[in-house]
Amino acid sequence: MMTNDYLYSIQDLNVEYETRLGALKAVENISFDIQKREVLGLVGESGCGKSTLGKALLRMIEPPGRITSGKLLFDGLDLMTLSNSRMRKYRGSRIGMIFQDPLTSLNPVQNIADHLIEAMHTHEMYSGEKEARARAEELIDRMGIRPERIDDYPHQLSGGMRQRVMIALALALNADLIIADEATTSLDVIVEAQFLDLLRELRDEFDLTFILITHNIGVVAELADRVAVMYAGHIVELGTVYEVFENPLHPYSQGLMKSVPNIKHEEGETLYKMSGEPPNLLNPPSGCRFHPRCPKAMDICERISPTFRLEKDGHFVSCWLYQEKPDNPSRVIGSSL
Ligand code: SF4
Repeated sequence: MMTNDYLYSIQDLNVEYETRLGALKAVENISFDIQKREVLGLVGESGCGKSTLGKALLRMIEPPGRITSGKLLFDGLDLMTLSNSRMRKYRGSRIGMIFQDPLTSLNPVQNIADHLIEAMHTHEMYSGEKEARARAEELIDRMGIRPERIDDYPHQLSGGMRQRVMIALALALNADLIIADEATTSLDVIVEAQFLDLLRELRDEFDLTFILITHNIGVVAELADRVAVMYAGHIVELGTVYEVFENPLHPYSQGLMKSVPNIKHEEGETLYKMSGEPPNLLNPPSGCRFHPRCPKAMDICERISPTFRLEKDGHFVSCWLYQEKPDNPSRVIGSSL
C-alpha cells in the first residue's frame, strides 16, 4: 500500500481509553497512507472510532485516552517523536482540522480578522499587522465571504460561512492536510453542495489533501478518491470510491451500501437495515468483530481475526471470505445478504 509519494503514512496505530471498567480499544492496529492531493473518505457508524482516529492523526487525544503505539509519518517525520510544544506548532501549520460545529473552535469574543491574524502571528507567517490583515481579507474573499464581513463575530455568520472561516484558518498557515470531521453534517443540502464544490476547487488550487470523516456516504461519493470503511475500531475495507461502492467486498460495507437511499430504488422498496447493534468495545466480540451481525459468518470468524490485506488493485479488505483459512471450516452460520 505504501508508495514514495505519500503525504501521511499511519502505521499500526492503537488508541485506548482508560475507563473504570478497563481499557477501551477505540482504534486498533490501523495502517494506511494518504497520497498528496488525495481526498480520503472515512466512513462508519457512530462509535466506530473514526473521530478518534481523526484526532489521533493530529495527536489530539485527551486523557483518559492515549495513543498506545504506532507511527504517524507525516512527510517522513514521525509525529510521535515530537515534543508537545513542537506538535502544537506543527498541528496548525501543516495539518488543519474542521469540526461539525465550528463554534466550538472559534472564539466567540474574537472577530474573524482577529482569528486569522492571531493564527498567522502565532506561526510567524507575517510580521506586520497590515500585511496579515490584507492576507486575511484575501482568504475570506477566496472563501466566498465578502471581505467587509471580516470584522463580524462567529455568531454573526451562518454555519456554512463559519466552516469556510475554518478552512481559511488552515490556508492562512499553508496547511497541506485538512481533516474535516462531519464538517457538512449541520449544513443544508444546498450549502453542503457549495461547500463540497469549494473543497474541490481548493484542492486543485492549493494542492491540498483532505480526510473527510463522515457518516454521509453521499459526501464521500461526491468528493473522495478513496474510501476507508471503519467498524468497531478497525478499518475493514479500503479502496477507490468506485471499487468500494460498485463492488464492496466486506459484508459490513455491503450492508452499508445497501442501506443508502438510491434513485434506482423502486417506489415502495424498503431500505436494507443491518441487524444487531455495534459492539461494546470494552468487551468486543472475539475473532472478527463483525461476526455477531454478519450474514456470512463462518466458524472461523468467531475464533480468529482476519488480516487486513490487499485483495486486488489497491482494494484492501479484512474478511475470511477472501483469505485462505488455517483449517477449513465451511459451515455458514448466517443467511446470505
Ligand atoms: Fe463476516 Fe467472517 Fe468476513 Fe467477518 S470475517 S465479515 S464474520 S465473513
